[in-house]
Amino acid sequence: MSNLPTIVRDYRALEAAVKPLVDAANTENWRPALNLLYMNGSVMSFPQVSLPVLVGLNGAEEDVKMSMDLLQGKAKTALAPLVSNLARLFVPRILSMVQKTEFVDAVSKGQEESVMLLFVSNIGHEIESHMNELTKMFVEGAFTLSELISIGVFKALCDLRKDQIRAGLSENEYDEMVELLIGLNVVEPRLQVSVCPLCANYQFTISRYSPYSDKCPKCGCEWTTATLYTLEPSLAKMKGENADLAVFASAYLRNRLTYSAPTEDVEVYPNAVTNVNDHEVEVDVYLPQFNIGLECKVFEDALAPLTKNRLGSIVGGLSRQVEGFSSIGIENVVVVTNLPQESAVRLGQELQKDVQQRSMKITNLVVVQGNVDALIQMLDTLSSSIAKQVGEKLSEMVKKVALKDETNEKTHEILKSTEVEPDKSHKKEELKEKEEFTS
Ligand SMILES: [Zn+2]
Repeated sequence: MSNLPTIVRDYRALEAAVKPLVDAANTENWRPALNLLYMNGSVMSFPQVSLPVLVGLNGAEEDVKMSMDLLQGKAKTALAPLVSNLARLFVPRILSMVQKTEFVDAVSKGQEESVMLLFVSNIGHEIESHMNELTKMFVEGAFTLSELISIGVFKALCDLRKDQIRAGLSENEYDEMVELLIGLNVVEPRLQVSVCPLCANYQFTISRYSPYSDKCPKCGCEWTTATLYTLEPSLAKMKGENADLAVFASAYLRNRLTYSAPTEDVEVYPNAVTNVNDHEVEVDVYLPQFNIGLECKVFEDALAPLTKNRLGSIVGGLSRQVEGFSSIGIENVVVVTNLPQESAVRLGQELQKDVQQRSMKITNLVVVQGNVDALIQMLDTLSSSIAKQVGEKLSEMVKKVALKDETNEKTHEILKSTEVEPDKSHKKEELKEKEEFTS
């Protein structure tokens, strides 16, 4: 290595946003909230809006199937595709609208007219382009606009939730994660749609503080509510770039090292872009003093079968990454994935082979499976091995200092035996000082 890489930029400033997750990692009960880190940002977003969201569901979608059927059945068969097209357009529009400050202001001030005006101006274009069919539909009394929006949003939310779960979590894990993230104040409710399984009544609320009721006010039956949550803004930004896992790992390591290696200022850079000899290399978590580099890979579909082709393309991409790491002197590589254990093991073996074949100078190569406990265990092992190295370095330094002291003492003794006079006068001064102090 000719030159040490310089850090062009990094995400240390964003670590504050993952602090609640680091706190959760240090507990047992809150730790499942970290499953969020394994969700790919694009799986969390609606197609037209790059805004990662989560969907909570109170009650079962199955329960309201009949009601949804009835509500949708009001639309004539010919209009059904139009309804679903519109619904698909509404949700992203509503989502981008609820982000706008003027909308939030109007809602919080209870200015219903402004809310409606903003609403129509945002989705008006879509409505206009289908006005003929819609007018016919509304005139015939098949549908009201609010029915159309409510059902569309409810369905879109349930579908997104299903897709998010399918990508890697069980339904229970997903629900637990959402609950814990609410408790950690990392997510915020934005809108709710409730549908009654008995009377097909529905309620659509765009508010952060909607009065939640688990019962239909019309018939008293327990209804099903879908709630849309957005992430805290800086976390959402990171999630959009799939950078949150790296920033978390970095923040967690930093937190650990403050206790385990307090004497050493260990440099940890999340999402580091380094430059060496005019050549840029990106490292998801970079610890330059210890030649450690982490690569975080959160696949859109963690559970997709790991076919030979898929494995080959993943190994190819990672191998190029490791080569970059190697070019800046990284010898210890950890690949953090959201893959299940079996896939992670296979990936580790293939990557190891590839790295050896290309004779890269990599001392340690580890692939970590997509499991919160496995992630924390790896980070703990990493920080204690760093602490050990720091400790060894420290004890070497202490030895050196001790050796110096020994020689110093010897010369001091020689000096003592020869310089008796100055020592006496020194004692006199000391006595004088003491007297002054006591009087
Ligand atoms: Zn009801």
